[in-house]
Amino acid sequence: MQPLRWIKWGLVATGLIVGIIALLFQLRPSAAQWPHFPAPTTSGDARLSVSWLGTSTLLISDGNTHLLTDGYFSRVSKTALLGNLSPNPTRINDALTLARVETLDAVLVVHSHFDHALDAPWVALKTNADLVGSESTANVGRGAGMPEEKLIVADTGKPIQYGDFKVTFLHSAHVPQSPAIDALTGMGETIDAPLTPPAPVQEWKEGESYALLLEHPQGDILIQGSAGFVEGQLDGYQADIAFVSSVGLSRQPASYTDDYARNTFAATGAQIVIPIHWDDFFTPLEPGAIKPLPRLMEDLNTSFSQLDAAAKKYGARMYRLEPTQTLHFSRNTLPKVTPKNALRSTRTP
Ligand SMILES: [Zn+2]
Repeated sequence: MQPLRWIKWGLVATGLIVGIIALLFQLRPSAAQWPHFPAPTTSGDARLSVSWLGTSTLLISDGNTHLLTDGYFSRVSKTALLGNLSPNPTRINDALTLARVETLDAVLVVHSHFDHALDAPWVALKTNADLVGSESTANVGRGAGMPEEKLIVADTGKPIQYGDFKVTFLHSAHVPQSPAIDALTGMGETIDAPLTPPAPVQEWKEGESYALLLEHPQGDILIQGSAGFVEGQLDGYQADIAFVSSVGLSRQPASYTDDYARNTFAATGAQIVIPIHWDDFFTPLEPGAIKPLPRLMEDLNTSFSQLDAAAKKYGARMYRLEPTQTLHFSRNTLPKVTPKNALRSTRTP
């Protein structure tokens, strides 16, 4: 009788622990208190559009040239991470239909973790786009059977021209993570051979992490796909609007976000700051249904508060954009915060 009783209590205890963890994953912060980007969502005089499609996936267009960062649409579940990962063709097709994407000039990959690079070559193949990123990303493309002439390994600091967009990959860094997550995601490691799914999550190693600068006659855009930085990475560059990853900021020391801001949007003088990569990317990309990451994984309000304070300090404003929403703007239609010179003079030397 005694062993049976222990087994019974063991099962009850395990059930309780699993239940509590499941419950904790349901607790989510709300992004609703943060001000929404005030610009009209119809084009008008604005010549550029940026749609945020979750994670660090942004569709950028001037009507003639269409660029996509990452293109992560499979949004695998948390439990799927325990097995082998594969791109989900249905979700990729649905997302491209939702965003009205037929052809793309390039898919620009900010680093090679699964939530950035898993789908990128499949999206590139479907849209006849170049796949641009690190050598690790090129190996993800090779594993998907992409032709060599469509694989562009970024030369950091050297612009690539797509239509009127000048695209520059700049050497940057990933947001610091715990040693356990580092080990699971191959931080600081590269993908050295063609990677063909299905494969376990740890095969999508970081590769190189980049800041992206998209310069256009109608406005310059900075994209920081992971909340890391290299000191001085953007010195000498300018941007009008910055899309910056916020996930993980809440787990860094308080001074980190200020350093991050100083080396990203503040360095470029961008006055409009829009956080990205805060959505729960383990759920499908459904308009209106996407929530912030569970509180257990990310403290959105701390990350946003720090980013908002840093934006104000450097003469910029932080605005919220919801996943699947589109901004239409030109340099001249963006909300004005302070004169550019005043902003520059507030920078910490
Ligand atoms: Zn990553």
